[in-house]
Amino acid sequence: MASSANTLAGPKRVLLAAPRGYCAGVDRAVQTVEHALDLHGAPIYVRKEIVHNKHVVQQLEKRGAIFVDQETDVPEGQMVVFSAHGVSPSVHANAAERQLRTIDATCPLVTKVHVEARKFAADGYTIVLIAHDGHEEVEGTTGEAPENIVLVETEEDVERLEVDDPERVAYITQTTLSVGETSAIIAALKRKFPHIVGPKTDDICYATTNRQQAVKELARECELVLVIGSTNSSNSNRLVEVAREHGAASYLIDNHLQVQGAWLDGVETVGITSGASAPEELVEQLVKLFRDRGAETVAELKTVDEDVRFMLPGEIRSEFKVRDRKLPVAG
Ligand code: SF4
Repeated sequence: MASSANTLAGPKRVLLAAPRGYCAGVDRAVQTVEHALDLHGAPIYVRKEIVHNKHVVQQLEKRGAIFVDQETDVPEGQMVVFSAHGVSPSVHANAAERQLRTIDATCPLVTKVHVEARKFAADGYTIVLIAHDGHEEVEGTTGEAPENIVLVETEEDVERLEVDDPERVAYITQTTLSVGETSAIIAALKRKFPHIVGPKTDDICYATTNRQQAVKELARECELVLVIGSTNSSNSNRLVEVAREHGAASYLIDNHLQVQGAWLDGVETVGITSGASAPEELVEQLVKLFRDRGAETVAELKTVDEDVRFMLPGEIRSEFKVRDRKLPVAG
């Protein structure tokens, strides 16, 4: 059995990736639920996890948020928040039928992909969606043009792909994919369909790109990289993969309690990063664990400055206006 982290001396050096943790879309979504609770009181229903992080969900539950799987699980006439991952038009239709009061916390960068899907579908393209099947974001995007969208996850899927008109093919992507793998898939699509059209680069968002770049640099400096994030968080899983590809051992953990002593054997420098939905307090708890175990230095490895912020959803901003309160900005 693996020894506990508490029974071993820890690494001498801790390096923190920067940027890490909350992105502008997650910050906005979490603030949306908090403001909805402040403005309307509990309960506030939330369709799916507002962001893919257990800790965040538990904290909001304590304040009176009720998480449900589907909009049809919300009692008629109640208020429901849609998560950062986005929803399909059928979800809006179901909510309207049940006379739900809705607040849409879909990340604006996911909305951008929905808009692309609608535009390509209206122009008669077969749309290749590069994504992980079953992810909530993918369900929402696919729902925008279910007749036109086909999903590919790998280069092998591209090889097998057949379309009605190879001259009229477009591609879009999930926002939280591996930058490296996605460019290989796009290259395969361009070989197979030379006239394929798509967004300027891809739809992978700034936060995913920046966190992957940061963990790549981090992995070169550390024997072990710990990624804080939940197992259903796509961008967090990609960080583990990128760290491993660049030479470090790497594990995904919910919090400091999951660190296993065996992982620390022979480790002089441990790297820490966190997915876009993981709050900074979880990083602080992990740093404390290593300080308590004798880490002598804690430093940050910064690869890029981030200053992206998004306005809160219009429904929340209107409420604040009605109450003549100062208009807050997410981030
Ligand atoms: S990871 Fe990217 S797409 Fe997802 S919520 Fe954050 S900024 Fe938006």
